[in-house]
Order: sequence, then structure tokens, then C-alpha cells
Amino acid sequence: MLSRAEIVRLLSKEDLSKLCKEAYRVKLEEIGNKVSLRALIEWSNVCSKNCFYCGIRSGNNIVSRYRMTEDEIIRLVEKARLEGYGNVVLQSGEIESESNTLFVERVLKKIASTCGPSFGITLSLGEQSEDVYKRWRQAGAHRYLLRIETSDCKLYEKIHPPQCSYERRRECIRSLSRLGYQVGTGVMCALPGQTIESLADDICFFADEDVDMIGMGPYIPHDETPMGRGVILTESERRERFELALRMIAVTRIHLRNVNIAAATALEALDERGREKGILSGANVIMPNVTDSKYGELYSLYSDKPLPKDDAGEGVSSLASALEAIGEKLLLRERGDSPHYKTKRIST
Ligand code: SAH
Ligand code: SF4
Repeated sequence: MLSRAEIVRLLSKEDLSKLCKEAYRVKLEEIGNKVSLRALIEWSNVCSKNCFYCGIRSGNNIVSRYRMTEDEIIRLVEKARLEGYGNVVLQSGEIESESNTLFVERVLKKIASTCGPSFGITLSLGEQSEDVYKRWRQAGAHRYLLRIETSDCKLYEKIHPPQCSYERRRECIRSLSRLGYQVGTGVMCALPGQTIESLADDICFFADEDVDMIGMGPYIPHDETPMGRGVILTESERRERFELALRMIAVTRIHLRNVNIAAATALEALDERGREKGILSGANVIMPNVTDSKYGELYSLYSDKPLPKDDAGEGVSSLASALEAIGEKLLLRERGDSPHYKTKRIST
């Protein structure tokens, strides 16, 4: 493990290519030259929250709202499974209601019965009560992604309306751990007012919470949000932001070693080879978006978000070739569990 001072130095002063080489060496040692694949399904953009940075916040009256039906979701899951995906991620806006809980429960049970117990299911549906997380776990979900967004409470308050609570979000992460989920968290990099020290604290937060998976990406302004209105990034700002996100991935790999780290979609919004560069900086998971393209534009968290490609099959083979070209093997038909979670289970 690194000291906080060393984390700050690596994030700010280390030569980027040297840093990424070292992180990639650690990735090869801990994970091998393998990349886990997840099919991302963005099944609803209805959200009760109003985060100041997010394009599908409840206050955005311009975006049309959609919710897929149970059948639509199951059809997409089946299609992804046939293309070679061994697991899915179900993501949506945040809704806390009994009818939403029941809907998700039904979908989970249906996926578990159609695809069998070896098929992986990750949820990313925001903050919920421990009881709801427990019901979804019993219905078949075994991984959950809930980014802390920033571990700096003051900054957290600045980018969220007063109804949102940093403490509650952290408690949710802890509930998920208690329930035996593989827990993923993460942050946005290059938020206005965020310092290198604050990003170093984020990496220490991941270690302190002993999480199994990390999903990080650059913050990208969206015009229909209070934080993004009228903000246009220059080419050099886009590059800086991209490189900062790579640094965060690299230092997180070196510090935490055996966790799963995703090369987030937002990396691709800033660099067309963002995914491969993320892998070469220490990430080991990619999550192609398999949602129908008719919904793609409506699930616009940030500007220039890459749209889903309709033919998931074509996507998988071209992804495999792109990864092969950098010496990496795409894992098909696998759940892709976090090695960190496995060692935690053995030692407890
Ligand atoms: N509602 C759930 C899941 C969907 S949002 C939740 O909030 O947990 C998924 C992630 O999108 C968020 O955690 C946030 O980190 C990211 N996101 C939202 N707006 C963004 C933006 N403008 N730039 C980059 N990432 C953004
Ligand atoms: Fe809703 Fe998640 Fe966007 Fe916040 S980040 S507005 S909770 S979808």
C-alpha cells in the first residue's frame, strides 16, 4: 500500500507513461492479461434525484423519460447472453418505491431462472434501504455499483441538492458490504473545485471501505444541468481530464492491487481509444452498452456520451480484436468476479 503523500505525488508529478506502465505491470501480476466483459443495460432514465451534474436529473424537463418493460429487459439480457456475455449490469435513475422494488425483484428472478446461477447480475440503481438491497440480493443480484462521487463531504454538498446526504450514500455502501454483495464504488474526476489531495483521499476511501470494484471516469459537463450549462471544454481541457482519469485508474491499481477496475464509458467520450488506454493503465473490466439505440440518446448523463451499438454481436468480436491487438484476452461467458472479494471471503 502507498502512503497518502506518495499517492499525491503519483497523481500530480509522476511521468504519466511510467505510472501507467507500473499499474499495468500490477494488473498483469494480479489479474493476468484478461479483461472481463459486462453488458450494460440502461433500463430507465426516470430519476427522483436532482444531482447538479447529471443529464437525467429530475429537474431536466427537456429529456423524454422511458422505462423498459420486463419483457424488453429480458429480451436484451437473452440477446447479450447469446452474444457471449456472461453477466449484465442493470442501471437506472434512482427510484425508492415498493412498486419499483417489486419490478426489479421480478426481473432478477426471471434472469436467474432463464440464464442460470452462473450468470452474473450487477445492479446500479442508487440509494435504497438495507431491506431493499437484501430483497434484491435474495432475488439473484450479487454485485452493486454505487459511486460515492467524491469522498470530500464539502464538495459532495456543493454538487448535490440539500436532500442528498453524503453519510447516507456511505451507509448504503456499507449496507451492501454487510449483505455480501461485491461492492463497487468510484468517483468523478475533474469536478469543479476538486483538488489532487481530494482525489488522493478518494483512493484512501476505496481502501478504507475495502470495496471490491472501482468505476471512475472524468466529469463531463451536460448543458441541461446547473453545473454544466454553457460550459464547453477546450481540446486541452478534454485531454487533461482524460489523463487525470487514467492517473486515478493507475494509482488505484497500484494501491488496491486485486480489485476490479472498470474502464468507464466516459473515457471513450474524451478519447476514441479511451477503453484500451484505460486497460493499459490498470483497468480490467469493460462494460459495453447493449441498450437499444432508441433509448441511448435519452440516457444522456453527460454530453457526447457514446451511443449504444445495436448489434451487440458485432460489438463483441470487434472488441475482442481491439483487445487482442494490445495483448489482452476478452473473457466471454464468465461472471468476472472480483479477485479481491474472493480473497476477502477466504480470509473471513
Ligand atoms: N442513479 C444511479 C446510477 C446511474 S448514474 C446512481 O446515481 O448511482 C451513474 C453514474 O453516472 C453516477 O454515479 C455518476 O458518477 C455518473 N455521472 C452522472 N453525471 C455525470 C457527468 N456529467 N459526467 C460524468 N459522469 C456522470
Ligand atoms: Fe439520478 Fe444517478 Fe443522475 Fe443522480 S447521478 S440524477 S441519482 S441518475
